[in-house]
Amino acid sequence: MSLDRYGRDISYLRISLTDKCNLRCIYCMPEEMTFRPREELLQDDEILRLVRIFADLGFSKIRLTGGEPTVRANVVDIVQQIVATPAIKTVAMTTNGLLLDRLAKPLAEAGLRRVNISIDTLESAKFRTVTRWGKLDDVWNGIAAAKEAGLEIKLNAVIVRGYNDQQDVVDLARLTLVHPWQVRFIEMMPFGDVSNFQQAGIVKEEELRHTIAERLGPLSVVDDGELDGEASLYRLEEAPGTLGFISSVTKPFCASCTRARLTADGRMRLCLLREKEVDLITPLRQGASNADLSDIIREGIWWKPWGHGLSKNMIPLNRVMSEIGG
Ligand code: SAM
Ligand code: SF4
Repeated sequence: MSLDRYGRDISYLRISLTDKCNLRCIYCMPEEMTFRPREELLQDDEILRLVRIFADLGFSKIRLTGGEPTVRANVVDIVQQIVATPAIKTVAMTTNGLLLDRLAKPLAEAGLRRVNISIDTLESAKFRTVTRWGKLDDVWNGIAAAKEAGLEIKLNAVIVRGYNDQQDVVDLARLTLVHPWQVRFIEMMPFGDVSNFQQAGIVKEEELRHTIAERLGPLSVVDDGELDGEASLYRLEEAPGTLGFISSVTKPFCASCTRARLTADGRMRLCLLREKEVDLITPLRQGASNADLSDIIREGIWWKPWGHGLSKNMIPLNRVMSEIGG
């Protein structure tokens, strides 16, 4: 077990497999993004070694993210080896879905259980605008392939005021009336030099629930309001799927946070919205033993910040979202 000084049991590791992406979503990264040279990123064997150390420290859940995790070479092998790591119970992935058409089946065969697929709108032209060049059909093909491969599906939509906070929210919510999916509405978070735009665009979950209820009928609370990870869950009448609201800015879930993050360049980030990081790649490449690395990780976790400082206008500036992985 890895406890922090507030008594939280940190057992969920989100690994960014790469900082690269085949899209450039406007709230995530600038169009002219400079990516890190390959040699600065953790190699496959380095990731797998760190996963084993985290597993020995009591981590049992891994989520692979990015950038876009599916553009990493060997992603299927990496999944397979993480799944085979003793003590790791679940391996999930957050992806834009573009490459799932060909990867969903091999990933499922490698032991991946769940995918969160990002889709902010059901309108092709809008999708292209927000992603700067993405094709919505590719995401739908990815979703179909994930379904066919038997993966559990959640859909993630980042909501931006004036862009997708009205009809799109209703269209996305309507999907839960026909599919057993969780459709999650994510409050936009401010990062780096696009933070002004991000703060202006935040839409609170009460407003979204009101918009949905007006068009699709009442929403009832699921599981007595207990959070599913970071999402508060609701259901439309008779719907096989659920609606999740993730309001990290206006309703932080820090008290129940069990997460640590590993960036693609080998830093452990203790809070998505705090700049503090612990360098793991340097000691790893300088020959640190597993016991040394384990001590560095344990010490870092102990000092995990309580929560973010957005209400005091403390915005993380050292990385954009794509470099941390969400
Ligand atoms: N490329 C993959 C994807 O888009 O799903 C994985 C990485 S992406 C950084 C992970 C999640 O973060 C996505 O659901 C994305 O929509 C979300 N995201 C990106 N920028 C964000 C921001 N500024 N605020 C809130 N969520 C954001
Ligand atoms: Fe790429 Fe995901 Fe960021 Fe969009 S949100 S640019 S798909 S990393």
